[in-house]
Amino acid sequence: MGAFDLKGRVAVVTGGNGGIGLGMAQGLAEAGAAIMVAGRNKAKNAAAVKALAARGAAAASFEIDVTDRRACQALADMTVAQFGGLDILVNNAGTNIRRAPEEYSLEEWHTVIETNLSSIFYCCQAAYPAMRRAGRGKIINIGSMMSIFAASFATPYASSKGGVVQLTKALATAWAKDNIQANAVLPGWIDTDLTRRARQEVAGLHERVLARTPAGRWGVPEDLAGIAVFLASPASDFVTGTAIPVDGGYAVQG
Ligand code: NDP
Repeated sequence: MGAFDLKGRVAVVTGGNGGIGLGMAQGLAEAGAAIMVAGRNKAKNAAAVKALAARGAAAASFEIDVTDRRACQALADMTVAQFGGLDILVNNAGTNIRRAPEEYSLEEWHTVIETNLSSIFYCCQAAYPAMRRAGRGKIINIGSMMSIFAASFATPYASSKGGVVQLTKALATAWAKDNIQANAVLPGWIDTDLTRRARQEVAGLHERVLARTPAGRWGVPEDLAGIAVFLASPASDFVTGTAIPVDGGYAVQG
């Protein structure tokens, strides 16, 4: 169906080498987009490119720490040089450090805020000129249930993910004139490396999530593919500044 067709579009997916990022990258690739996978881990980057190419996608990777602003610029420049444009930017790279608020070091606070929030600003600034030139662009920022709720063990994470929603709204209002749409996706509890660690560190988390999720299961990275395609495609051209939960009903459970 034309409205969801991404043939000829180029997508950057930060953290696209595993978990939710790879789930979204696979959806975008199946809809026809070329994919630039951006992550720190070389072996994971290479494996993701291989998996995307196996689905017939044009794919490449860029080794990057997204907390480095200049590297974000280099990512955008390399994507344009290699694929001829940058139409879709998925800001998915993220991390968490779990402690009581009073126990965080300043370095830990900055690590989480820089990785989850500042990096999005850096990548959006870097991608903007290519999108403006093309006369269109799609920005998809990954928030969390902790964009809405909080947890006693995730102070910088919840702060950063709340910020992701506000940053998304600010970009949406500023760049609508350039036909650039910016939206946030708020995943529920999805089975990835990140949440496998969380389940080891937080007693009873697995069961609590199952009990609160109306769908009765944890999500899988593939559950995020559909929303990525929608928000990257012309089907969402009048959708901007939103924050859409993809959570099996977790956020509306009373
Ligand atoms: P993973 O740990 O599987 O993936 C995290 C990704 O981020 C990896 O690809 C990692 O790449 C990349 N990454 C982390 N730090 C950096 C950095 N400094 N520079 C470049 N890349 C980086 O976790 P998820 O797939 O679960 O998480 C993806 C996103 O989804 C995150 O933003 C997370 O907060 C969010 N999220 C996840 C939920 C869940 O239940 N899983 C729920 C809500 C939100 P590398 O290994 O190469 O560093």
